[in-house]
Amino acid sequence: MKVFGQIAAALLAPQATESVNVASTRWGDLNASASIFNDNQAMTSSGDSPRDNNVANKNIVAGVDLGGGSIKFALIEENSEKIIARHTIHHEGDVEPAAIVERIKNGIDVMISQVDGLSTHNLKAVGIGAPGKAADGIHVEGLANFPSWKGKIPISNMVSDKLGNVCPVNVCNDADAALAGESWIGAAKGSEDTVMFTLGTGVGFAAISGGHFIKGAAGTIEGGHYPLIPYGRQCACGQRGCMEVYCSGTAIVNRMKEDINNRKNKLPLYDDHVRKAARTELDIRDAEFLAREELENLDPEYLPLVDATTLTEDSTVADIFASEDRYAELLVVETVKYLAAGILTSMRMFDPKVVIVGGGVTKAGDKLLLPLREEIEFITWKHLPTEQEIKFAELGDDAGSVGAAAVAIGIGK
Ligand SMILES: [Zn+2]
Repeated sequence: MKVFGQIAAALLAPQATESVNVASTRWGDLNASASIFNDNQAMTSSGDSPRDNNVANKNIVAGVDLGGGSIKFALIEENSEKIIARHTIHHEGDVEPAAIVERIKNGIDVMISQVDGLSTHNLKAVGIGAPGKAADGIHVEGLANFPSWKGKIPISNMVSDKLGNVCPVNVCNDADAALAGESWIGAAKGSEDTVMFTLGTGVGFAAISGGHFIKGAAGTIEGGHYPLIPYGRQCACGQRGCMEVYCSGTAIVNRMKEDINNRKNKLPLYDDHVRKAARTELDIRDAEFLAREELENLDPEYLPLVDATTLTEDSTVADIFASEDRYAELLVVETVKYLAAGILTSMRMFDPKVVIVGGGVTKAGDKLLLPLREEIEFITWKHLPTEQEIKFAELGDDAGSVGAAAVAIGIGK
């Protein structure tokens, strides 16, 4: 992406750079091997030692993924696009900003100590991804996992001071980070027009158009909270019918719990007729005119399926996607319909070349991806056919840290 390149070059201009002579590594391999390493252990691609004396002369960027339960770190050699160290700090979450800044410094120090000849002075940039608003690159606000943080916290400046002001420090929203990472070296590499949905406990959203993030006037674009269903389910954000209350991992599990609980208590199966409409092949608009009883009568076989399922109220999203139950299959079909409608909206509104779907829910793999592509193909217009790819994210657990580093070097600016 030319814009990214210019900014990255400007950032790096005063620094001597050298060509990087290391074996290229497929990200899939890195992700696959990551799970066998313990936290706090240096990670390199197969065959490459972290004790690389030349690495100190290369372009090193640190990425920090600030989560409520853990802070994940990655050190990336920019030119080769390789992770040369990783680190994770597990923590209790909502503590004061100064304590988090201290942990961020410690995490970066640990990674640097894993690479011979490297010091904080070799850092070209530090990027921090946070689950809240970070419109100006300096302050964070409204962090979901840190409710005790009030007002705007200048976390970039605090971290920069802690590190001795050795390099620029940037903070960004974690959904933006995920998209920047995929645009840099993941599933959207080469695309300047990409949107991304991150399906986890909520639904994160970010969009890059013409190589630049779409930020909005207040920096609060929240695609997961657009009203998928008018007057639909109540969302925690205060609106009704948000995409998040239909498509997040939490939403999928909640629907399962409702079904099981309603059958147990002999209550009507559905609390809203949109669910019924989505699970059948009905057009939602037609369903608006049907009473709940009529809708239930459309699919009487569904009730015994709920009774017979091996899923319980304690089952997880992973259990649902792993289940061979007919009931679980229908739950997935229902989810695919909501998700397809949400993604299709983004395709019409942003005209992306690539739509990335990331987050924990995508661990379902082809069981979700293939029917999702099929459904979008089915419901999309035939008016102006365009090539738009639907892909799952590729960076896995590195998405947050690598993405924050990507934003810090100018991806999407
Ligand atoms: Zn909402």
